Amino acid sequence: MWRSLPFLLIQNNNCTKDEEKALTEYAKGVKELEKGIGICLVGSGQEYDRARKLQDKMNSNLSHAKGRIQALTKSIEEKKEQQTKDNRNSRSSQNGNKATGIKAPPQLKKNVTRSNSFSRILHDKSKKDSQYKSTKVSQQISNKNKDEEMAVNQVNKVSHLKNVDSKHANLILNEIIEKGRGVSFDDIGGMNNAKQILEEIVILPALRPELFTGLRAPARGLLLFGPPGNGKTLLAKAVATQAKATFFNISAATLTSKWVGEGEKMVKAMFATARELQPSIVFIDEVDSLLCERKENENEATRRIKTEFLVGFDGVISDASERILIMGATNRPWELDDAALRRFVKRVQVPLPDVNTRKDILKKLLSKESNCCFTEKDYNDLARITENYSGSDIAALARDAALMPVRELKVEQIKTVDPSKVRGLKLNDFISAMKTIRPSMSVESLSKFEEWNSKFGVI
Ligand code: ATP
Ligand code: MG
Repeated sequence: MWRSLPFLLIQNNNCTKDEEKALTEYAKGVKELEKGIGICLVGSGQEYDRARKLQDKMNSNLSHAKGRIQALTKSIEEKKEQQTKDNRNSRSSQNGNKATGIKAPPQLKKNVTRSNSFSRILHDKSKKDSQYKSTKVSQQISNKNKDEEMAVNQVNKVSHLKNVDSKHANLILNEIIEKGRGVSFDDIGGMNNAKQILEEIVILPALRPELFTGLRAPARGLLLFGPPGNGKTLLAKAVATQAKATFFNISAATLTSKWVGEGEKMVKAMFATARELQPSIVFIDEVDSLLCERKENENEATRRIKTEFLVGFDGVISDASERILIMGATNRPWELDDAALRRFVKRVQVPLPDVNTRKDILKKLLSKESNCCFTEKDYNDLARITENYSGSDIAALARDAALMPVRELKVEQIKTVDPSKVRGLKLNDFISAMKTIRPSMSVESLSKFEEWNSKFGVI
């Protein structure tokens, strides 16, 4: 496939459709190459060397293909722009004809007028449609273009990193860097304290680095801790979307199980890549399983990964000029190694939602329901009676309550009912759902968090 593509392009150099087709084929090719590069090689000997060479070749093909995708996208965009200009010119020359005053013969005039207005309506509609489509398409193309451009830049930047194997660097680029366009701070109910801290140490310094230097330099280690299901991961995803930084999303499980024997090198490559592509945020979800206290029977590979991580972390802390933040999330903060804990200087608790946060979460969840007419009082009552429910318990409760109106219908009715005719949600649906969806955390386990927070929580 790779050999036939350039031929196809040379033959049809001016044709956008063929270029679009080629673009799709290149995208497929890139996916396949990435799969190939993603295969982890272990062992030694001739077979291994051959496989390594093949992977290097795939890496260089990948970077060529990405460059080609960028060029094609640009060319398509230019041609589309040219076409829009041509259309505009031909329309204005048609208007010019009208201005010459040539009239249709009287016997045809009525039909012509009718058909003219009819075709004008069609023309207007299709113009609006095509304008809408072309704006959307060009927006998509320009987003894609930016992503591609960024990807090519990243590949170029990391391809010559010292002491980093290009295979590892590529794995980092393909599997660890999050392109995050999803959750925003507005999707997260309450948590104003955590949001404000994140804004202060992540988002604002990324926007105005020159303001946050010297004593104002932001912290390099931030730990989000708290009971499960209250939005730690959600907050990190929102940071990925809103901070203008390269976001590395890594989990301990991936390091220890996916790249067996390579985890240590991956950690090293990740810090080198984060340094090269700064400002960067390295997020480690469930950080306790990576940086837990050292145990007697600990496996050697895991110990080495942990040590490499702490060395990398130290490098980030000691160099004031670096704009890298290491962010961890855990629901078992007491299992963290002391050495790791001291590096996370800011430790922010993400607690169970209070009454206002519960109300906010409920409002966000129900705003998506078309025929729900909760009053302010309903929201207040519901927020009050859901004490000790976590954010994810509330989401589960809302999902269960939303099924109540459907459960009232007979099977035959469910098959045919118009969704807009299903009755809206009521407070009673939530009260019924609360019989089966209960808070997932016991009060005793919650006190453990409070205790840890009062000892180690910074804020
Ligand atoms: P864990 O410690 O188990 O990893 P977590 O704190 O990382 O939990 P998330 O995965 O961020 O929890 O949240 C789980 C789900 O709960 C989210 O997908 C979302 O549906 C809901 N949720 C939790 N907190 C909030 C919130 N403040 N606003 C909106 N939704 C929330
Ligand atoms: Mg989580």
